[in-house]
Amino acid sequence: MSNWLSKDKQYVWHPFTQMKTAPEPLVVVKAKDAVLTAEDGKEYLDVNSSWWVNVHGHGRAELRQALADQFDQVDHVIFAGATHPKAIELSERLCKLLPGNFSKVFFSDDGSTAVEVALKMAFQFWHNQGKPRKRIVALEGAYHGDTFGAMSVGQRGYFNEPFESFFFDVDFLPFPDGTNDATVLAQAQVLANSGEIAGFIVEPLVQGSAGMRMYAPDTLDELVRIFRKSEALIIYDEIMTGWGRTGKMFAMEHGLELPDIVCVSKGLTGGVLPLGLTITKETIYEAFLSEDKLKALLHGHSYTGNPLACAVACASLDLFETPESQANRLRVATKMNEFARRLTESPKWTQVRVLGTILAAEWKVDEESSYFASVRDQIYQHFLGHGVLCRPLGNVVFFNPPYCITDDQLEHCFAAWMRFGEVQG
Ligand SMILES: *Cc1c(COP(=O)(O)O)cnc(C)c1O
Repeated sequence: MSNWLSKDKQYVWHPFTQMKTAPEPLVVVKAKDAVLTAEDGKEYLDVNSSWWVNVHGHGRAELRQALADQFDQVDHVIFAGATHPKAIELSERLCKLLPGNFSKVFFSDDGSTAVEVALKMAFQFWHNQGKPRKRIVALEGAYHGDTFGAMSVGQRGYFNEPFESFFFDVDFLPFPDGTNDATVLAQAQVLANSGEIAGFIVEPLVQGSAGMRMYAPDTLDELVRIFRKSEALIIYDEIMTGWGRTGKMFAMEHGLELPDIVCVSKGLTGGVLPLGLTITKETIYEAFLSEDKLKALLHGHSYTGNPLACAVACASLDLFETPESQANRLRVATKMNEFARRLTESPKWTQVRVLGTILAAEWKVDEESSYFASVRDQIYQHFLGHGVLCRPLGNVVFFNPPYCITDDQLEHCFAAWMRFGEVQG
């Protein structure tokens, strides 16, 4: 065991990891474009974008420069009673970039906190008007983060069992899988009729952590219309689907009904620094304006609006505007579609699906048992052995790489994917 590994074992507690049985982590000492280099010099393709955040590739000179320049100006400053140019620039640019009429940006630190803020906004929106509404509607299989509010609106039972008794009440609708959509809509109508729904939160078009599960835009639109009619606030969690991932800058740009509140994070800074934003419309914001200080949104974090993160996020927006970035996103999406056709012909893989630069498929398992867990580890190790770092969700393999990944690198990843089927016989 290398020195780093033994020290890691001695001192570090990793996320989502059973430390007793997990294999040794990869010690990554360098990251450039789509390639991670381990301590032993071996290279790995970062095909899940370092937990879905690294959209442009690692080590981008433009982001580095923005970070350095900002450090020379303001490294960090309190964000209550003070402000700074990069937070203002980022807010203005995002309000203009998003479709519809978003006009106010609230800053936090990551995806989970962006969701917490959205939920608090929704509850307090109703509270401030003296018409409290206490229920939230979410979809089964949802993942919105790991803080208590975010866990409350996420899929129950898998990871959160020790905490479940502390969660607030949430009405879960079945995931609309194409066979049950009419029933889901009917159930939504019943909930909306109660008049008690403060908000409806949803990952638009794709549920990420549930295994890149995709569902029909028409069903989402219909759900939004049902809840909007009951005046519930519509919250889109675009933390995973934002930043070009689904083929548009934001999933909502696929001609969808627009939300009242949108949460973004992950690729916001190009995957370089943590930052979360909850973006909303003037009508929501106005419900917090009052002579009464207690009607304000009394929420904040020490690092709220961190100038370094804001500067890098602005530079990331610049990168998105380059013809190179636009061409790369199209190119990767095309490659994903091509490979999806090849996968569809293989009897070993089912539920092959693509949206933008997300490709996912499921390894056929006979029984939904603990076998799941072992096949997941087998797939993970198989890819590692081929120099590909991915993180399957159960028997779901998916790629959502940085857009700079080359065609050759993608072909290498695809070959490793096909090879798994051959190895398993
Ligand atoms: C990752 C994710 C979150 C949580 O974001 P963190 O930055 O990990 O707290 C919330 N919602 C969705 C859809 C996500 O993919």
